Amino acid sequence: MKILVINCGSSSLKYQLIDMVDESVIAKGLCERIGIEGSKLTHSAAGKDKVVITKDMPTHKTAIELVMEALQDENHGVIKSTDEISAIGHRVLHGGMKFYKSIVVNEEVKDVIRECFDLGPLHNPANLMGIEACEAAMPGKPNVAVFDTAFGMTMPPKAYKYAIPEEYFEKYSIRRYGFHGTSHNFVSGEAIKFAGLDPETAKVIVCHLGNGSSVSASIGGKCVDTSMGLTPLEGLMMGTRSGDIDPAVLQFIMNKEGKDINEMLNILNKKSGALGMSGISSDFRDITNAAEAGNERAAITLDAFFYRIIKYIGAYAAAMNGVDAIAFTAGVGENDADGRRKICESLSYLGVEIDTAVNKVRGVKTMISTPNSKVKVMLLPTNEELAIARDTLALVK
Ligand code: ADP
Repeated sequence: MKILVINCGSSSLKYQLIDMVDESVIAKGLCERIGIEGSKLTHSAAGKDKVVITKDMPTHKTAIELVMEALQDENHGVIKSTDEISAIGHRVLHGGMKFYKSIVVNEEVKDVIRECFDLGPLHNPANLMGIEACEAAMPGKPNVAVFDTAFGMTMPPKAYKYAIPEEYFEKYSIRRYGFHGTSHNFVSGEAIKFAGLDPETAKVIVCHLGNGSSVSASIGGKCVDTSMGLTPLEGLMMGTRSGDIDPAVLQFIMNKEGKDINEMLNILNKKSGALGMSGISSDFRDITNAAEAGNERAAITLDAFFYRIIKYIGAYAAAMNGVDAIAFTAGVGENDADGRRKICESLSYLGVEIDTAVNKVRGVKTMISTPNSKVKVMLLPTNEELAIARDTLALVK
């Protein structure tokens, strides 16, 4: 059984074709610059050379058609016909308060994705375009929506409510939703298995540290709190996002610099975080290299990034009255051994103890805590595509 996983951005489309017999990736690729001049598709199939196909893709529909051609191509293809694809799983950013788990797409589901355009203005329209493109290209084939916000739906009101007038929650569903949910769900589940914890009661903190970063706390695999909010802007400091900030800072800068709210939010989303603080790059490798070369701003940026992670872990351990496992994942979490070490050194009060030699590992599922550690600490590579494919399979089987 083969599942096609689709992740649509406003001008991009990532895909993976996964064989669910052994969960191997048969082919994957990326369509870039959809609707913009110079669009191209980069496609790679297991055991074959990567190909770059430069062709106009005015819409997501044409992008999907091109992906279908690439998958069935005589030379770099992997299937004879689309009949071999059992279902399509789509990453959908925002399900609002309607969806707490993945669901087979029908007209009603599409209406809700549309209703959530306000909440996910950049992603939801693209996600819906991806679904409709697949419906057109493969009529009758089941499409499954896997929501990035679904994991956060188990949070209790004390965690998801903002302390603002209740009318805004009632009228507009303004609340904490959380993002990276597919990753947090996948990694917390894997952490429970890997550490041999009780799946009903395990208290797990997942640190998804990439260009976008977030922390989640879950008990028995159910999210009880997470750091991103109504949008992905809240929480940790990120590659280009500010994370938590006193809202009065916005008013101050806007008054001083004559900026409107859209410009201000653009600054907080795209020009802040590690990029804004360091003035070097949004890429943590560049900042680490600069810090090692003696750049003080880069060193402060890294310190601030790790400091906030340490604070969130402390807050979530307190919120759960304990923690059994902490898992690091995503680009920085999986690769930056020094960062993991720095974070864990500040968690000795929780009884965290890591093996610094074992911790040097990169990108491989590894228990980095010592046998004496009170908390199991691990590196667990995330795999959002596989998580989407598993959900899709479970719903269409
Ligand atoms: P996203 O999916 O949010 O775009 P990723 O999870 O791919 O991001 O993570 C990208 C980040 O991981 C980049 O900032 C990159 O610099 C960082 N990263 C990768 N390897 C390392 C490393 N060895 N040390 C520090 N950061 C790293």
